Amino acid sequence: MAKIEVIAERCKSCGYCIRFCPKNVLEIGTGLNAKGYEYVTAAREQDCIGCCQCAMICPDGAITVYR
Ligand code: SF4
Ligand code: SF4
Repeated sequence: MAKIEVIAERCKSCGYCIRFCPKNVLEIGTGLNAKGYEYVTAAREQDCIGCCQCAMICPDGAITVYR
């Protein structure tokens, strides 16, 4: 199982990572960062296959995948 780390302060809530994740692991959370964006969380981390699509697509480098 992979581990997903989201740097909340970098996330702009654009949703690219959610759209590109093949396993529907990610979703917009309810927490707000300092800029007022609802940042992404790995709501179904147990389903992650560690493909790194989310990390590669994020324009703000907010996601790190640990395999
Ligand atoms: S590593 Fe792949 S499966 Fe895991 S959250 Fe990112 S896009 Fe989804
Ligand atoms: S792609 Fe990056 S900035 Fe966009 S919602 Fe996902 S983590 Fe946030």
